[in-house]
Amino acid sequence: MTQRAHNLSLFALAAVLGCAPVAGGEGDRLVRVSDGATPMGTYLMVTVYAADEAAGRQAIAAAFARVEEIEAATSHYREGSDLSKLNRSAGGPAIPVSKHLWAVLRRSAEVSEETGGALDVTIGPLVALWKTTWKKGKPPPEARVAAAKALVDWRAVRLDPKEPRAQLLKPGMHLDLGAIGKGYATDQAAALLRERGIPAALVDLGGNVTAYGAPPERPAWLVGIRDPANPGKILPKPIRLLNQGVATSGDYEQFGLAPGHRYSHILDPRTGKPLEGMTSVTVVAPDGVTADGYSTALSVLGPEQAVAFAEKRQGVEVMVIFQRDGKAHTLRSKGFSRLEVTPTTSP
Ligand code: ADP
Ligand code: MG
Repeated sequence: MTQRAHNLSLFALAAVLGCAPVAGGEGDRLVRVSDGATPMGTYLMVTVYAADEAAGRQAIAAAFARVEEIEAATSHYREGSDLSKLNRSAGGPAIPVSKHLWAVLRRSAEVSEETGGALDVTIGPLVALWKTTWKKGKPPPEARVAAAKALVDWRAVRLDPKEPRAQLLKPGMHLDLGAIGKGYATDQAAALLRERGIPAALVDLGGNVTAYGAPPERPAWLVGIRDPANPGKILPKPIRLLNQGVATSGDYEQFGLAPGHRYSHILDPRTGKPLEGMTSVTVVAPDGVTADGYSTALSVLGPEQAVAFAEKRQGVEVMVIFQRDGKAHTLRSKGFSRLEVTPTTSP
């Protein structure tokens, strides 16, 4: 996705609700501290409960620095990143990579395996191809799609199982971690806040959220999901999150070409083409990296398969909003509705 598209979605995704500070005993009163930044071409909003304002601010600054460290390692937009170095080494021998890059690549490979390659971080050549043709206003020729698709193969990423080293087997391969890197970053930021003794935090990076603990005297965090039909608004029912991640992938970020057709920024690695009709896929999972990776993969699998996939997995829930036969439909996994909170009830 473009830098611009991300910035347009600034602060439009998840809204944190129901976290008014509630006094406990005088000695254990926690204050809510929140701050934002704009790394990775999107917004970052961190909310914590801390012993005092200063402790909260310091912790949030450290969380921002952790996200920045991950961006420096995993961004394909930055020439000097570890990922860019790896991309430049495609077709050559294995090279050492940072622990962050290695960890995201390992998790990506697991999600690729589980989803039959629906998530494929070697998607880079196809993303580049579609981006340039979108600018010109027409789809790329089939032959160019086929040529780019030949370079998309997650099994051609060799990861050393013991130490942080990686190899791209085919010359011209290009990795793009846009589908999973943000969820990894929110997990890492949350882990750091936890290590610093912050009892409850919610980290939202462009609609990819990791939450742990809960606001004082509340059973869970409440998070709003962006309403794809009303940009800037959230769906009527927020969801409760307790030590979980949630991510939404949607087609609102990038579309173009033929009038009346919306083209997603998510590509189907099997066809080499953008998805159509998958309006938004929200996944709740035990952590942020899983929610982020699955939200993209389940978009590719389509509504029915997405729900079947989630229902087979403990702790994974999905809600899919899609267009079919000119109408909008919503499908939820059985457990998703249990996470939704009707506005009149408290979490
Ligand atoms: P967002 O960037 O809005 O959070 P996603 O998490 O769904 O959305 O990631 C979409 C991005 O991932 C795209 O912009 C592109 O860079 C990349 N991508 C597109 N299709 C795939 C795919 N099938 N597998 C892996 N990455 C993809
Ligand atoms: Mg994703």
